[in-house]
Amino acid sequence: MRKVQALVAVLPFGTSLLGALFVSALFFSTLLLSTTAIASTVLYEHRLPPGFGQIVPDVSYFLDPSGDTSLDDVLKRSFEKVREYPPQFGYTDAAVWLTFKYRNPGDIVWLSVNYPMLDDVQIFILDEHQNLLSAYPLGDRLNFIERVLLRPEFTVPLPASESPISVYLRVQSGSSLEVPMTISEDVVLRQTMESSAWIQGLFFGAMVMLGLYHILIFLSSGDRSYLYFGGLSLTMALIQATLWGRSYQFLWPESPGWNDIAVSVLINASNFFGVLYIAKVVKICESHRWINIAAMTLAITSAVMVGLSLYLPYADVIYPTLLLSMMTFITGATIVIVRMRRGYPPAFAVFVAGLMYTLGSASYILGKLGVFNNSLLLDNALALGQLLQVLLFAFALSVRMAMDKELRERAQRDTAHAQALLLETEREQNMRLDQEVKARTQELREANARLEKISTTDSLTGLYNRRHFDEVLEREYERGAREGKSLSLIMLDLDYFKNLNDSQGHTFGDEALRQTALRIQDVLNRPADMAFRYGGEEFVILLPDTEASAAHILARQIWTAMRSEPVVMKQQTVRLTISIGIAATMPNKENSYYTLLKRADEKLYQAKNEGRDRICI
Ligand code: GH3
Ligand code: MG
Ligand code: MG
Repeated sequence: MRKVQALVAVLPFGTSLLGALFVSALFFSTLLLSTTAIASTVLYEHRLPPGFGQIVPDVSYFLDPSGDTSLDDVLKRSFEKVREYPPQFGYTDAAVWLTFKYRNPGDIVWLSVNYPMLDDVQIFILDEHQNLLSAYPLGDRLNFIERVLLRPEFTVPLPASESPISVYLRVQSGSSLEVPMTISEDVVLRQTMESSAWIQGLFFGAMVMLGLYHILIFLSSGDRSYLYFGGLSLTMALIQATLWGRSYQFLWPESPGWNDIAVSVLINASNFFGVLYIAKVVKICESHRWINIAAMTLAITSAVMVGLSLYLPYADVIYPTLLLSMMTFITGATIVIVRMRRGYPPAFAVFVAGLMYTLGSASYILGKLGVFNNSLLLDNALALGQLLQVLLFAFALSVRMAMDKELRERAQRDTAHAQALLLETEREQNMRLDQEVKARTQELREANARLEKISTTDSLTGLYNRRHFDEVLEREYERGAREGKSLSLIMLDLDYFKNLNDSQGHTFGDEALRQTALRIQDVLNRPADMAFRYGGEEFVILLPDTEASAAHILARQIWTAMRSEPVVMKQQTVRLTISIGIAATMPNKENSYYTLLKRADEKLYQAKNEGRDRICI
């Protein structure tokens, strides 16, 4: 499923890339075609009758190890038949002479040596009496513009002639010495040029665009694997263009010295980028440290070889370069295979890419060895393999990009999830804490209320106690003064209580106190009126906003209630009386509550003195 997502993610990228490739391929092909057309119109003087073949029959060769032999001397030497076609001599310092005869009763035709890398090619045309008709100095040591025909292959005209004509070629090169030749009539040559221009333009345009595109991605993303890929694509494009002779034709037509070493420099550069790209795209460093170190060593060696190939002759560096290429290939294959075994998707794309390249190279080599007949496809098999390889490399890169993106997004999602979880837990904890605090506060409030009640209440009667009375009296006195309202105080005391205790017992005395308190409570009906146990068997009633007369009525009700009903406990029944003193005042700032208290006490005292069981006011 993840692989499918990765594929979908790279689709838009792939589409835009293909578009860019198509446009660029059109552009480069048109460029190549137009230059070829100019060369043709300028140089072709005749339209030749069609039908002349492309085969060069009966070629012979003579190897000149010293390279000193002149044409005159060569004419006296004996030549051997070339057994394979095209003639190949490997890497050699020797000069090779090739010769063949032909008859051409028609119009002039064109002889091409189709290996643009050859350093030095000289073509001599002699008549049947061995007189020199024409000589063409060629090869990529000469400036490109000095060529007879401005095309990468070395092409010269062969004149029409009824009698046999001899052609001698002298070839010497630091590159591998191979001399594929064709003779083409004008129309065929033109067709060949057009088709190769198309194919080469397509290839070159695609490779260059891929390279530049990825270098741009590198510039914007900073991801070095894009740089390595870009470098690889561009160097491969240049290598192929140089082998086709197109680099010399278009990029550096006046630098034969550089053209000579360009291929070895470029191959080393491409090894450098290639090994770095593969190591990075499949992330070998994540799983195999030692293979990664080997790859980096190879990259450094390739970089050194780039420097060396700039200064040493082509022939000296080409073998180490090819060796290094082989090592790069083996290392790359190892990296890809170990990563494939770990199931890393980009490695599969790189593997198929390598396969394409290998197939391309194999077909190219087999084509050269003559196993297959030469065809347009086989001629360009190497380029096709390279192109497919590079396309798949780009694909591998984008698969990896999509995978990395997916990984990043998943990490972000996980982080966000964890954060939300944390926040939720925190909120829950806060809520729990809040509820706890509220509950504790409530408990505390209730405890405080209980304490407050305990501290203000008399435990025996349930009335307020003396301490509370002291507070309330002062407060109510001040309020009365503030509001200009009168304040009354009733003070009452049970008569002969000591005797009751003595005769009925302390428990009955307590019960008598409780019942007295109840009767007092029964009489009070305004919320502001408050009753207190003042001491032993003394009670006070505080009546805010109450005149003396109203206080007297209230006192009388209590007095009556005491007299009319006896105190009962089990079998004991005792009638009790009380003495009451009443004081009322209009509170003011000059006097204090103490005066009121004192007067009520005096009135009570008076009631006692006058014989008890009465109210004094
Ligand atoms: P008088 O008529 O002059 O008021 O005489 P009296 O006996 O009531 O007055 P006195 O102040 O001499 O006696 C008060 C008695 O009340 C003394 C004490 O034993 C009793 N007493 C005080 N507090 C309590 C109490 O909480 N329970 C009981 N059972 N008796 C109490
Ligand atoms: Mg008493
Ligand atoms: Mg008393």
